[in-house]
Amino acid sequence: MTASSFMDFSDYDRHEQVVEHRDAASGLHAIIAVHNTSRGPALGGCRMWPYENRLDAVRDALRLSRGMTYKSALAGLDLGGGKAVIVGDPRRDKSPQLLRAMGRFIDSLEGRYITAEDSGTTVADMQVMAEETQWVGGIQSDSEHGGDPSPSTAYGVYIGIKAAVKHKLGADSLEGVSVAIQGVGNVGFHLARLLAADGAQLVVTDIYSDNLDRLLKHVVAEVVDPETIYAQAVDVFSPCAMGSAINEATIGSMRAPVIAGAANNQLASTREGNVLHERGTLYVPDYVLNAGGIVDIAYQRSGGTDFQVREHIDSIAPTLTEIFERSEHEDRPTYHVADELAEERFYWNATPAYLVGG
Ligand code: NAD
Repeated sequence: MTASSFMDFSDYDRHEQVVEHRDAASGLHAIIAVHNTSRGPALGGCRMWPYENRLDAVRDALRLSRGMTYKSALAGLDLGGGKAVIVGDPRRDKSPQLLRAMGRFIDSLEGRYITAEDSGTTVADMQVMAEETQWVGGIQSDSEHGGDPSPSTAYGVYIGIKAAVKHKLGADSLEGVSVAIQGVGNVGFHLARLLAADGAQLVVTDIYSDNLDRLLKHVVAEVVDPETIYAQAVDVFSPCAMGSAINEATIGSMRAPVIAGAANNQLASTREGNVLHERGTLYVPDYVLNAGGIVDIAYQRSGGTDFQVREHIDSIAPTLTEIFERSEHEDRPTYHVADELAEERFYWNATPAYLVGG
């Protein structure tokens, strides 16, 4: 793949740097996308996923890194947007050699990109990468959750769901509010527990039964098949698995008046965002709602306290309420209002560098 060909992707959006790397010895195949560093170094998680092909992996890296720029800008962090993806099955292909090779790849960007946990990677994986590079976040072992940002992400999603439920359904509490959660991994697990503690009624699904079993040890929830989660007659649909959950095939069956989840890039395209707006579904922009994790990692790096992290994450609720109100008053989709607010907070660097690594 040549450097310029990254620019041919429809998801390419003036990215400053996109680098692809293969390491034969460890089997690593990874892509790092640095979208924008005008607010600071590009911080974003490292995802490991069994992509069907490299084009899907590049697309994911491009979309996810862009989202991180918008997320950090709206969360008021001095960070840019970047993301790394490793092509492979985290349950099968992960090895210390592969993680160390990833650490060296990250190091080659000399701090323009800082990594952290994401779907398919853990705090332990970050600690292995940190043997090769200093540019790793989310490994502060004395923080409340040993560096794992997922509980903070879940907390932000939880307070965002409360704000959305209040705005859309006029409810001051989650008692009796029904929520369908797609994916009970790192974030979905903690989110389910927070919602259940407030009296919400849960419907959950996952593609791995051990993840469901882990959750059911802590909460009461109805379990449904993955393909039926979209059509549940609930108050809130919460996508907490992979991107593009809201797409041409699924949008018609969605019945929840509120969509609010942790997954990045929930809308397959802006078209779906427009459809939701037209039919009166409140779509809570993903990168605003799920900023708790990046806030947590930013404070881990700067030495903030757990209290400061919580206080910062609490600001997600008023930001969302402003977006909901502007969306209503101006009759524009929420994703559109959020993008506009974020774009007021960063600028495009003049000379992007397009690189491809070998
Ligand atoms: P995870 O991999 O731990 O959890 C995802 C869960 O979804 C897994 O249990 C997986 O089995 C399940 N899943 C995958 N495809 C599914 C499908 N088709 N149907 C049902 N279940 C499915 O990942 P995570 O860290 O919990 O992150 C979840 C999402 O939130 C991701 O999109 C991630 O990018 C985003 N996110 C995570 C964080 C964080 O702090 N971890 C922060 C911001 C955004």
